[in-house]
Amino acid sequence: MTDIVFILGTRPEAIKVGPVVAECRHLSINVNVLFTGQHTSLLRGTPAESDLADSASLGLVSDGNVDEWIDTAIARLQIAIIERDPQVVVVQGDTMSAYAGAAAASLIDYPVAHIEAGIRSHNDFEPYPEEWIRCAISEFATWHYAPTSTAYANLVSEGIDKNFVYVTGNPIVSALARYAPSARPVGGGNGTIVITLHRRELREGGQLEAVIESIIDTAAEQPKKLFFWSAHPATRSLIGDVPGNITLTEHMDYVSFVGMEARADGILTDSGGIQEEAATLGVPCAVLRNVTDRPESLAANVARLYPPTREGANDGMQALIRGTIPRHPLNIYGSVESAREIALQLQKVVA
Ligand code: UDP
Repeated sequence: MTDIVFILGTRPEAIKVGPVVAECRHLSINVNVLFTGQHTSLLRGTPAESDLADSASLGLVSDGNVDEWIDTAIARLQIAIIERDPQVVVVQGDTMSAYAGAAAASLIDYPVAHIEAGIRSHNDFEPYPEEWIRCAISEFATWHYAPTSTAYANLVSEGIDKNFVYVTGNPIVSALARYAPSARPVGGGNGTIVITLHRRELREGGQLEAVIESIIDTAAEQPKKLFFWSAHPATRSLIGDVPGNITLTEHMDYVSFVGMEARADGILTDSGGIQEEAATLGVPCAVLRNVTDRPESLAANVARLYPPTREGANDGMQALIRGTIPRHPLNIYGSVESAREIALQLQKVVA
């Protein structure tokens, strides 16, 4: 018998769902984990190989066509859900896999619970397609596990019944503690700047080449600094020759990557999860976006927003190099118990 089917498909989902699945099993909840296949190589060195290792995959590799992929995934997921016949389908975050899982379940009348519910940038096109996916999943879901009080307020202001919205914290904080306990806040940086860029609107907005040039130029002017660039496969092919003080990779295993983050002088990123990790680890964060869906970091003054342009990238890099953003670990995204909180809520749903 299956109590819960978790549906996921990407690196950040594996990292955030891993500790929730582990906590559910600890509570003797019968859990079944289903990967769509949206990410493959990016799952290496994530909880997909530990707490989620006994999952099934539909093998639906994404070719970048959002609508076509989602249609296929919804059709395949409906069959997979019916075969497993759970009491609830759980999705996390704002990916195509999460949307397809929630839509598939709703179409065949299985209730949906949503982890990381209520995060909003309040801009339909940034991040795209994540913002509309989050809003759509909030419509499908019955139970909403909000990471922060800001996310809770977003959901309630959209008319979601507050009796079904719970502030649990974000399981990314539990993931850090569970999988990478040695990645702890440190007093000062080691002279390295970590860089990640992958948002679709940056890739398609015509500014990516200028941003890449700006980062390379800054690194060339700072030979004593080291730059570690985890360039998502979607952007890696656009980065040409780099100076010797930039180390480039397409993906690093989770434990090594967060260890690198914790010791860095700062992080330049457009990632959602990395903004959360940066605040938790106390690493200064320059966010290369026009708007952010993690306003908690801005309000706490541990991150600053820079437009995704040549000038924005330069300003963000300079702020990290000069150390003008405070280095200050905070629990604004929840505690290490966040995954357990979600599992305890799910236990009530399947009781
Ligand atoms: N990450 C990783 N290896 C890397 C780069 C990132 O394990 O080389 C992890 C990172 O620690 C974070 C997550 O991937 O937990 C962020 O994923 P991504 O930026 O792809 O997605 P987003 O958070 O923007 O949805």
